[in-house]
Amino acid sequence: MVTDDRSGVATPANSSVSGGLRVRVDQAACTGDGLCVTRAPSVFEHDIDGLAYVKTDTGELLTQPGARVIVPLPLLDAVIDAADECPGDCIYVERPDGTLEAGPGS
Ligand code: SF4
Repeated sequence: MVTDDRSGVATPANSSVSGGLRVRVDQAACTGDGLCVTRAPSVFEHDIDGLAYVKTDTGELLTQPGARVIVPLPLLDAVIDAADECPGDCIYVERPDGTLEAGPGS
């Protein structure tokens, strides 16, 4: 796993990814209810502030603002469900060109 500090995107070491879809959380709007953690616990996790963050496939929690991780293909449906149902409307699933696949305004 390599994190590109310029983009905040964690790049997986394997190719089983969902067409390059990436996910991020806007903590400013997160309610901390934990729906996303329930749906995809290997992608989302609460930090000690009670808010949800994305994490890498090695479990590293990415707490910098705007941090994104590639969505693992087996978790695509769970991540999109989390984005669709997120009470804070603050999970963004983005295509490689930056347009939204799921999340607020998609
Ligand atoms: S579902 Fe949305 S509001 Fe709830 S903890 Fe996850 S990111 Fe925050």
